[in-house]
Amino acid sequence: MSSVHPRRSSPPPPMDKPANEKLKGDKGDDTVPSDLDIPDNYVQHTLKTQKALPPFRWSNWYNEINWLSFTILTVTPIAGLIGAYYTRLRWETFLFSIFYYYVTGLGITAGYHRLWAHRSYNASKPLQYFLALAGAGAVEGSIKWWSRGHRAHHRYTDTDLDPYNAHKGLLWSHIGWMMIKPRRRPGVADVSDLSKNSVIRWQHRNYLTLILLMGFIVPSVIPWLLWNDARGGFVYAGVLRLCFVHHSTFCVNSLAHWLGDTPFDDKHTPRDHLVTALVTIGEGYHNFHHQFPMDYRNAIKWYQYDPTKWFIWAMEKLGLASHLKVFPDNEVRKGQLTMQLKKLRETQEHLVWPSDSNDLPIVSWETFQEQAQKRPLILIAGFIHDASNFIEEHPGGPHLLIKMIGKDATTAFFGGVYDHSNAAHNLLAMKRVGVLDGGHPHGLEDKAIPPSQRLKIARYNELSSPYGSSTAYSDGESMAY
Ligand SMILES: [Zn+2]
Ligand SMILES: [Zn+2]
Repeated sequence: MSSVHPRRSSPPPPMDKPANEKLKGDKGDDTVPSDLDIPDNYVQHTLKTQKALPPFRWSNWYNEINWLSFTILTVTPIAGLIGAYYTRLRWETFLFSIFYYYVTGLGITAGYHRLWAHRSYNASKPLQYFLALAGAGAVEGSIKWWSRGHRAHHRYTDTDLDPYNAHKGLLWSHIGWMMIKPRRRPGVADVSDLSKNSVIRWQHRNYLTLILLMGFIVPSVIPWLLWNDARGGFVYAGVLRLCFVHHSTFCVNSLAHWLGDTPFDDKHTPRDHLVTALVTIGEGYHNFHHQFPMDYRNAIKWYQYDPTKWFIWAMEKLGLASHLKVFPDNEVRKGQLTMQLKKLRETQEHLVWPSDSNDLPIVSWETFQEQAQKRPLILIAGFIHDASNFIEEHPGGPHLLIKMIGKDATTAFFGGVYDHSNAAHNLLAMKRVGVLDGGHPHGLEDKAIPPSQRLKIARYNELSSPYGSSTAYSDGESMAY
């Protein structure tokens, strides 16, 4: 890639200025997509050319700490615990704290995350103001800052350009990435759409006032006015509730990339787990979410716990939200099928399969006759089978096998005498020792493939091998999934 990078396809520029003049923009114009001029090999290019800060060292820890976040994240739980020790918890305040936890949590999950970072639905102005206020009460940065980091997380998942790269450990992805100065700038992610939004601009401008108001004043004033418990409100619904909201939403970056299954794709770390869903107001189906981030749902089954989805759905019913995006079910099921096939393929690879005709010696009729004098060889469907160690175990009795030694038992095996079970077909194929020269008549292919191999899972580059032989495995390079 030369230093002149071709422009990527970009959204049409606003009509009020000539296209090229608007696109050039000055550096400070945050309505121009920030990823307009990045190289096509941006990730490798950036990791190679941009120097990262050296790894965290305890020797100069005071220079490495991000003091603002560090103070918020340590003072909150300590102050909450001390406050709780000296403050009686009234049941009204307890219930209100849980309620306010959900309000501010939804500000992050339904607002910051699904509405603004992923544009998974449209929200009316009143709902946007509600979510911007509720989200401010969670004290996790402004919508714009949060969404920028989160879009980088999705775009560069599990790389060093992902601000909460899960490969750096559970503690780092949970809280370390905020406590310590970032080792690298997060990868470029466009938030020019958010810069144009008046609610987001308003929240960004008034952020400090709004966190004081929504984080501490509102949760103190409501219990004060309704049951005269301002102090309890401040301690439980303000400070301690904030601590819970923090760690609950942080779990989306840590626990959701660590615990659970990968039913849609296992290329990266995101996982699905009920426990994560329970502690994150429904953001625990994270494997699905990383595959289909524009979907307003995280859980696709009705019985899975996703209150954020239920909230957005209810808002739509109330006329406050619209255009809820749902990824086509057909594509969702393709992801699931791929993972199911992959698991079955693993089971298949752990089994021993019969040799196919390419792996076996071709034997003349005379050699077959001669060898059959020494060991019990029986011809079936063009394959010569060695029945040693099996004659006595034959369920129909040894005499039926003994009389077929040195003969063609195809008709007898395939229904002439007894219609053999699938297990018998599978076992027979394991006893192959050779192929009779010219003895593999056309039209018998289905008989030559045992039932266990008729639905065998083959990689695309194995499909030329008609029997999907176990020896046909290629290297992993050209896997079809
Ligand atoms: Zn994630
Ligand atoms: Zn997301």
